[in-house]
Amino acid sequence: MSVFTTLCFGLLALAAAAPGEDQFDDKQYASKNIITRDVAVIGGGSSGTHAAISLQALGKSVVVVEKEAVLGGHTSTYVDPGTGVPINYGVQAYFNISVAAEYFARLNVSMGPFQFNPVTQVHANFKTGQSVPAPPSPGFAGYAAQAAKYPYLKYSWNLPNPVPSDLLLTFRDFLNKYNLQDVAYSVFLAGGGFANILDQLTIHVFKLIDFSYIRSISGEAFQPVSGDNGEIYPKALSLLGPNGAFLSSTVVAARRSPSGVRLVVQTPSGKKLIKASKLLITIPPLLPNINPFDPTPSERSLFSQWSYTNYFIMLLTNTGLPSGFQIANAVASDTTFRIPSLPAPYHITETRVKGLWYAWYASPTDTTEAAVKADVSAVVNRLRGAMGSNVTTPVNFLRFKSHTPFKLVVGKQAIQQGFYRKLGELQGQQSTWYTGAAFISHDASLIWNFTTTLFPKMFASRV
Ligand SMILES: Cc1cc2nc3c(=O)[nH]c(=O)nc-3n(C[C@H](O)[C@H](O)[C@H](O)COP(=O)(O)OP(=O)(O)OC[C@H]3O[C@@H](n4cnc5c(N)ncnc54)[C@H](O)[C@@H]3O)c2cc1C
Repeated sequence: MSVFTTLCFGLLALAAAAPGEDQFDDKQYASKNIITRDVAVIGGGSSGTHAAISLQALGKSVVVVEKEAVLGGHTSTYVDPGTGVPINYGVQAYFNISVAAEYFARLNVSMGPFQFNPVTQVHANFKTGQSVPAPPSPGFAGYAAQAAKYPYLKYSWNLPNPVPSDLLLTFRDFLNKYNLQDVAYSVFLAGGGFANILDQLTIHVFKLIDFSYIRSISGEAFQPVSGDNGEIYPKALSLLGPNGAFLSSTVVAARRSPSGVRLVVQTPSGKKLIKASKLLITIPPLLPNINPFDPTPSERSLFSQWSYTNYFIMLLTNTGLPSGFQIANAVASDTTFRIPSLPAPYHITETRVKGLWYAWYASPTDTTEAAVKADVSAVVNRLRGAMGSNVTTPVNFLRFKSHTPFKLVVGKQAIQQGFYRKLGELQGQQSTWYTGAAFISHDASLIWNFTTTLFPKMFASRV
């Protein structure tokens, strides 16, 4: 060790030992800034909010730390001022299983059927604007029969060892092997946000377009009767009570041990010290998000392996497009199963409000809001030309929401080497538990179901 390094270590040790320097020490905080809870929940999106409300119902004290100014995560709603109609430009509907019904009842939110807009679907090549014939649409029966061979994927990531080789085929190879080419385009459109779907592993496609999705589109989907999927979040916030959730807040440092956790949280009203028996992390477990929690070597190793796609939803006005349509992006080529390359919009669709349109867009690589908007504007202009519109003024972006990072996945080798088993083994280490999309699937009801299976272990556990 050099003299310089020794000196640096010495200074660091002095700094750490100096009185008043330990940010985890109660003495550094006024008593109103020390929050003591049974569980600290990180992330107030779908899984975090559900977890907090459910834990509270079990008699546990909770606090949520959410980086945005509102709870809700991928749930975003715009209420049209002219008609009062809520337009959800994120989470659309929920799969009707008991855990979802219980959650809605607890929040006093009435459930009703999914209210969809009966638009006419047409297809166009978004690179040219030109109309293309409708891709085949055989329904999901053949696909569902294949997915049903793997019942453990329904509610878990408990994979057999070895993992069945079909699950590790690219989706393209899988479709060819089972002569399911005709369903490819429907899976592409349904799997919005999962860019390059033909190159993804079949296991990840089965986890996205799963039994719950297929049952939901067959009529088992529901949403609040109000049609406003955001309704649950202000109600949840109010149930959590004062100091139940810190919004616009992030954890900046953490000390975790088998006996509990201490979190230093930056909030709009200054730093708080949260002391909790358990930590429940629901944010996307990417290293930059987890670094403030001082990750263990296992966490660091696992969380550095994810890749994800970029996903954006926009609300547009002044499209100049004819009313009553969903214009879906498709190509004429059978070699890609009629699936266009991304980045691009999946479809541009009129919402339940006349003249107000959605654009659903994904990119396999990182991109910017400006680049996405420029691309969508160019697509709309091409469609205008091809559909005989004489509108030439720019399309207006009324709302733009990034849902990135979306669909965290790992590669074939990681799965073969037990990635998901190792992920499961993190549960309970250092008083820390995990839930959320990366830990189960992108389906709110299934995530809520998974979270509730953690609770008995969380409180039976001595760690
Ligand atoms: C556009 C879109 C539509 C969807 N539609 C449906 C649908 O109709 N039905 C369905 O069941 N599922 C749908 N999903 C899947 C959806 O991802 C899940 O249902 C669910 O939202 C995932 O919950 P989550 O808690 O893991 O993530 P989120 O709901 O995204 O919650 C994560 C939360 O963590 C917060 N956060 C992130 N980083 C930090 C940090 N460092 N500190 C503090 N907070 C942080 C985020 O702001 C967010 O609020 C959709 C997803 C997208 C993107």
